[in-house]
Amino acid sequence: MRRIGLLGGMSWHSSIEYYTKINMAVSTRLGGHHSAQILLDSTDFADIRDLQITEDWAGADASLSSTAQLLVDGGAEAVAIATNLMHKCAPAIEASVDVPLIHIVDSIASVAKGAGHTTLAVLGTRATMCDGFYTERLEAQGIATLVSDEETCLEVDQIIFDELTQGVFTDASRARYIQIMNDLKARGADAVALSCTEIGLLVPPETAPLPAIDSVDAHVAAIVEWMMAEESVSAGV
Ligand code: GLU
Repeated sequence: MRRIGLLGGMSWHSSIEYYTKINMAVSTRLGGHHSAQILLDSTDFADIRDLQITEDWAGADASLSSTAQLLVDGGAEAVAIATNLMHKCAPAIEASVDVPLIHIVDSIASVAKGAGHTTLAVLGTRATMCDGFYTERLEAQGIATLVSDEETCLEVDQIIFDELTQGVFTDASRARYIQIMNDLKARGADAVALSCTEIGLLVPPETAPLPAIDSVDAHVAAIVEWMMAEESVSAGV
C-alpha cells in the first residue's frame, strides 16, 4: 500500500470523513486489521480563511505548498488536498513537490463519465463555482457544467462559511440547498456535484433530488485506487 499525504483541516469536519472513508475502503479491500497509511496535516483553518478573504492566493499557494512538502518529507508518496476550493492552489503545489497530486476534479469527472452524466450542476464555494479553475477542468474532460446565478452563488457560499465549515448543519439550509439543486435540475443538469467537502454532511447524496456525486466520495475512491495500485499490479503478474 502506498502512503497518501492529506492536506486537511479545511475544514476538520470533512477531514474526518476523508480519514474514515479511506480507512473503510482499505479495510474492505484488505480485511483483517488492515488500515490506511495516511499522513494528515490538519491545518488551523482560520489562517487559510484569512488568505481566502483577502484573496491572497500567492500566500495560499506558499502555505499549502509548504504543507505538501512537509508531507512529502514525512514519507507521503502522493498528496491530496481535502477541499475543493483550495484546488485553486493545485498548480503551485504540483510545481513544488515531486510526487503526484490526486486532483479532486478529475475524480469527479471520472465518476460522472462512468455514470453517463453529461451536464453537472456544481455546488460549492463562490470561487469553486465562479472562478473557472474548477468548471473549466470539468469541461476540458467533456462534461458541461451549470451553476446558479451570482446572488444564489453568494448565498450558497455564505452558508458554507457561516455554517458548514463551522460544523453547523440546519434544516433551513438543507431545504434551501435542495431547492437550489431542483432549480439546477430544471435548467438541465442530469446530476449535481457536491463540490464542497462539507455539503454531503448537510445533504447526503442519496437525499438529493437528482443524482449526486459527493466530492469526498469521488476523491476518496481515486485516492484509494492510487494507494492500492501497486498491489493490483503485482497481483496481476
Ligand atoms: N471544504 C470546502 C470545499 O471543499 C470549503 C472550505 C475551504 O477549503 O475553503 O471547498
